[in-house]
Amino acid sequence: MRIPLIAGNWKMNKSVAEARAFVTAVQGKLPAPDKVETAIAAPALFLETMLEANVDQVLRIAAETCYYEDEGAYTGEISPKALRQIAIPYVIVGHSERRRYFNETDDVINRKVHAVFRNGMTPIICCDETMGRQSSGEKIHWVVNQVSAALKGVPAEDAARMVIAYEPSWAIGSGSRASSDQAEEGCYLIRQTIADIYSDDLANGVRILYGGSVKPDNISGLMARDNIDGVLAGGSSLPEESFIQLANYQN
Ligand code: 13P
Repeated sequence: MRIPLIAGNWKMNKSVAEARAFVTAVQGKLPAPDKVETAIAAPALFLETMLEANVDQVLRIAAETCYYEDEGAYTGEISPKALRQIAIPYVIVGHSERRRYFNETDDVINRKVHAVFRNGMTPIICCDETMGRQSSGEKIHWVVNQVSAALKGVPAEDAARMVIAYEPSWAIGSGSRASSDQAEEGCYLIRQTIADIYSDDLANGVRILYGGSVKPDNISGLMARDNIDGVLAGGSSLPEESFIQLANYQN
């Protein structure tokens, strides 16, 4: 059974004090993690404060990115080894904003995926779809290429615990999300790609999230679909109340 994962990606928003206040405010208001898992990916600067405030430890505190080397002369980068040392469970890898603004290539993303696994954490691998309205043949090509490139050399025992997020960039921050049919189609394609690389069994166990303008009032239509196992929400994960509503979408 795939436990739903409702994840937020704060991007470069909030202050340390606001991050602490958010974690305090959601204590006791999120579902039990064996029913619905919840996570917030936050700037690295906030993580320790958030971990301290997370008394009931229901919310998973995640990182938005990391580097692919564990340590060394890489000024300004975030060490996956240091994230592991503070017990961060998830790291987002390959978000479309990292690809676009920080020139992360498929090769860099693949190295980061390896680094996250090497350090015992789980990557949330983002798969972009920049062109949006392309024909279904082009879409398949696009998704297959990104997923295959990110997973190059990743053994099945690691791949079995990864999370993938399908985030069409035309739906990110635009307010015009993919329809639940488009989102389901993208997630289905990703699952097929994983099945082709590994096996049906492995693909059936992997959680695939949809991201792009997810809101409390549209999450249930997405979560009702067969291949959508959760969401990666940007803007609507920032206010406490909105994230609590996303997390409790079943109620
Ligand atoms: P929005 O929910 O703000 O569209 O952002 C989605 C996203 O990029 C999550 O990673």
